[in-house]
Amino acid sequence: MLMVATLVRTHCPYCSLQCGITLETDRSGVTLAPQPDFPTNRGGLCAKGWTAAELLGHPERLTGPLIRDARDGPLRPASWDEALDRIAREFRHAGLEYGPDSVGCFGGGGLTNEKAYQLGKFVRVVLGSSAIDYNGRFCMSAAATAAQRAFGVDRGLPFPLADLAEADVILLVGANPADTMPPAMRFLDECRARGGRLIVVDPRRTATAALADLHLQPVPGTDLAIANGMLHVAVREGLIDDDYIAARTTGFAAVRRGVRLYWPDRVERITGVPEADLVAAARMLGGARRVIVLTARGAEQHSTGTDTVSAFINLALALGLPGREYAGFASITGQGNGQGGREHGQKADQLPGYRRLDDPAAREHIAAVWGVPAASLPQPGRSAYEMLDALGTPGGVRALWVLASNVAVSAPHAGRIRERLGQLDFLVVSDIFRSETAEFADVVLPSAQWAEESGTLTNLEGRVILRNRAVPPPPEVRTDLEALSALADRLGHSGFHDDPAEVFAELCRASSGGKADYTGISHARIAAEQGVFWPCPSPRHPGTPRLFTVDFPTPDRRARFHAVEHRGPAETPDADYPYYLTTGRLAGHYQSGTQTRRVGRLRDAEPVATVQLHDSLALRLGVREGDPVRLRTRRGTAVLTARISADVRADTVFAPFHWGGPASANLLTNPVLDPHSRMPEFKVCAVAVDKYVPA
Ligand code: SF4
Repeated sequence: MLMVATLVRTHCPYCSLQCGITLETDRSGVTLAPQPDFPTNRGGLCAKGWTAAELLGHPERLTGPLIRDARDGPLRPASWDEALDRIAREFRHAGLEYGPDSVGCFGGGGLTNEKAYQLGKFVRVVLGSSAIDYNGRFCMSAAATAAQRAFGVDRGLPFPLADLAEADVILLVGANPADTMPPAMRFLDECRARGGRLIVVDPRRTATAALADLHLQPVPGTDLAIANGMLHVAVREGLIDDDYIAARTTGFAAVRRGVRLYWPDRVERITGVPEADLVAAARMLGGARRVIVLTARGAEQHSTGTDTVSAFINLALALGLPGREYAGFASITGQGNGQGGREHGQKADQLPGYRRLDDPAAREHIAAVWGVPAASLPQPGRSAYEMLDALGTPGGVRALWVLASNVAVSAPHAGRIRERLGQLDFLVVSDIFRSETAEFADVVLPSAQWAEESGTLTNLEGRVILRNRAVPPPPEVRTDLEALSALADRLGHSGFHDDPAEVFAELCRASSGGKADYTGISHARIAAEQGVFWPCPSPRHPGTPRLFTVDFPTPDRRARFHAVEHRGPAETPDADYPYYLTTGRLAGHYQSGTQTRRVGRLRDAEPVATVQLHDSLALRLGVREGDPVRLRTRRGTAVLTARISADVRADTVFAPFHWGGPASANLLTNPVLDPHSRMPEFKVCAVAVDKYVPA
């Protein structure tokens, strides 16, 4: 009998661009092609997307639950019933022994909206615990906090990505889309082909910076001074939009006073960026009408992250950009559901609809949807690093469930976090592969993956999209929704849906009236309209591709300036640790590398962890290309392979964070937190560098 091939429209399992993909399944397996008409990729995919089908039948994937009987014993195969019974027993025991906050969950920015929503509900309703946060805290929290306080809402891009193609000038701060999301480069290319200009701020001459009309290459951790310096020049030269400032904003007087001190020669002394380049950049921005200012992790993952983003928002507001056609401020989200992941309640301080957990009205609304008394909902708990740092301590979490996150590799000061994981009474990990974090687990649950389940995600533009199931998961693999529902049942809470469509319907009701309002969104609309932009408060509402065109969702409908001062990073080089370390991503890998290190073509392109160091530094250290190099910080040591280049500052080394074991860049990073967002300072610390000679 002939088997007819089926075609399913879905999306890439990786980054926030959520490129449209068509999967064709037949007797020979699954083949994959980009959707030519999906708005963010228009027929493009990067190497990660092209190879994503390899994850589905991968020989190393988890195909059934695993249990460890004794702390030092091996993981052995188990049934779902045995695994779930064990988890329920251990969670119940920890809760009775140490109180509800001793049981917690750590989620991920790759979870679908439905899973993020259900996980938040599970922790607050079933466990009665405040202990929940997720790896998005390490990703977007600084930008989200700055956007909330300036605009009253946080949507990464408050306009469609395609607007970039229509801009006259784009300022890109700490972002390298040429490597991290290559299909998005078409919009920058179209912009430049129209005569638009690109300014890039980055300590490295990245593939994106190499295309720039102007590349500012600052000392790591000094972006805030650059923004204040540009605003100083814009004020001095009359480039700001006084009418916009008067009509649509508050708080500019204090900012204007503050930036007076950011003379370009002083900014040059702080940042190393030549005065003339700073002035040229400010004039480029102030001399054009369609200007887009974009930040990403390079500017945001700092102990000054929120204030740094605020400084760039101040610049954008002073130039009158937010709400203007083909202009504005935005932050580029990284993870696949980095945007949706922070809207539905898996963050320590939030409830669905992007509501605050400490807001009495929000508690009443969500409690009514969940059918529980508002008073029973816990108060906000610890942020991601603070939760991990306290694992196994008095008052900390004793029994933890980690879903779709590999904190043993991705958390800052990873050596400390590995120690803390070892101190837990009980650890459950749900994942596709046996990650480095799973090696600490007492129970490992195998998760269905991207093409094996349906669910919605919200991309970097705030466009809600739908991943469709194309193939069934292996027989002993379940979806995380099924695992949540079964565990809730064992803990005495029946009625937790495991069908994504039913969870989405409940999520939409919960979001009603919130900032991220999904009320009018349905699977049918998503399919028909290639995604729907929130807010979309009713079925007849068209969705909102562009925010702020009329006003801002603040109490007085105006955007708010915040005066901010350069403080610099928590650690700067000294005699013992004489260089800056900065971390980031490579083109062929994603996050902690759990998936991409297992994909042949990606692994072959970047098989080992490398450290990028300048020719002059390599010469001084006697290091040649390919030599092992030892990096030491106050927190740990890592050994990586030298990649010598003139593309990084001579005082700075760059290490990607995609590897586990002794090559983990996060063994080195500084967990000092931004006071506003609790974002750790991944992007800069002081490091000692030498050629590694094995003993
Ligand atoms: Fe996937 Fe992102 Fe690459 Fe697109 S750019 S194919 S979403 S990893």
